[in-house]
Amino acid sequence: STTISVLKESGDENRVAITPDVASRLTKSKFQVLVEKGAGANAYFPDQAYQDAGAKVVSRADAISQANLVAVVDQPDQETLSQLKEGQMIIGLLKALIDPKAMQQLAKQKVTALSFELLPRTISRAQTMDVLSSQASVAGYKAALVAADRFERYLPMMITAAGTAKPAKVLVLGTGVAGLQAIGTAKRLGAIVSGYDVRPASRGEVESLGAEFLTSSVSAVGEGGYARQLSADEQKQQQDELIGFIKQNDIVITTAQVPGKKPPLLVPEEAVKNAKPGSIFVDLAASDLGGNVAGSKPDTTVTADSGAQIIGAGNMASELATSASEMFAKNVQAVVNAISKDGEFSLDLTDDVMSQLVATDHGEIISDRLRDTLG
Ligand code: NAD
Repeated sequence: STTISVLKESGDENRVAITPDVASRLTKSKFQVLVEKGAGANAYFPDQAYQDAGAKVVSRADAISQANLVAVVDQPDQETLSQLKEGQMIIGLLKALIDPKAMQQLAKQKVTALSFELLPRTISRAQTMDVLSSQASVAGYKAALVAADRFERYLPMMITAAGTAKPAKVLVLGTGVAGLQAIGTAKRLGAIVSGYDVRPASRGEVESLGAEFLTSSVSAVGEGGYARQLSADEQKQQQDELIGFIKQNDIVITTAQVPGKKPPLLVPEEAVKNAKPGSIFVDLAASDLGGNVAGSKPDTTVTADSGAQIIGAGNMASELATSASEMFAKNVQAVVNAISKDGEFSLDLTDDVMSQLVATDHGEIISDRLRDTLG
């Protein structure tokens, strides 16, 4: 029968691509499911739970060699990729756009690679497969909790015999999937929340969560529902207006990304300098290239001279590994359902979701976006 394998992730990654629940659904759909020993342990899914779900726990070597489809969260190491053989498939966040050479290598090996970064996001049929959204949503939630935890004051208004605490003010910059989840979470904790984005269309979404929408003087709608990169003049204009907004807030959570580009700097040095002592910045866009907040570093908290803390996010979804994995696994299952019938794979590359999600097949680069990136 057709075999789907799930591998143990490496490094600090706690998530797992297939949960026992999804394993059980897959075995009911006539797939054999192999699980590398310990694959789910860091997300609190023990091997026994996979066995109870009808899956087999095996060594990494067996999971790789016997698979028709290998499921992973992150791009596996080079050694693992090189072990994949002609006709095998792999699905995960394979870094198709930031590491296109790895995709070329898989094409050479005649491996079929499905990279979630390539999934078209505006086709509604693809929503159930949208790992970027499900994991961004987890990260946004966690960002609000981390901010609340580090903040040394109450978030809600508290009226007590010992006096009244003012509610905290939270500003979310970039109100896409992660930003909206951060807004919702901060609202539930009782803060006064506002959101800001260069896509005017997000106003309705922000307001429906009970937050105020701060209108940007720069409108930057790009392709596919994303923002476009701003010109140098627009960036300056945006930073100037944001300095005023930021000053009025206790917590600022930033999530702004432009696909394939360095994240825009939204909180310039001056805003960090003027921040109130004890204020918190959480930068979900923190990267080695820089993030949304001046001075932020991934996986690191920096204390500014003003006494503000700048928390550069690392892999926030991995810090809520159980929920993140449950959603990731459902996304994987949705893809498996879309590319199989009666427990057998048949990939239709004329389908407008698959023609984009598939990076490589039969030795060819399939995704146009990947081909453009390779030049
Ligand atoms: P993202 O992670 O690429 O960016 C996060 C947010 O930052 C976006 O809202 C973007 O507009 C904003 N941003 C970028 N540059 C900015 C700047 N200079 N200043 C302020 N904000 C800036 O985006 P995302 O969360 O992946 O979502 C992007 C869009 O895709 C949204 O419209 C979302 O609703 C849409 N989407 C649609 C579907 C669907 O229809 N199936 C699924 C997922 C996402």
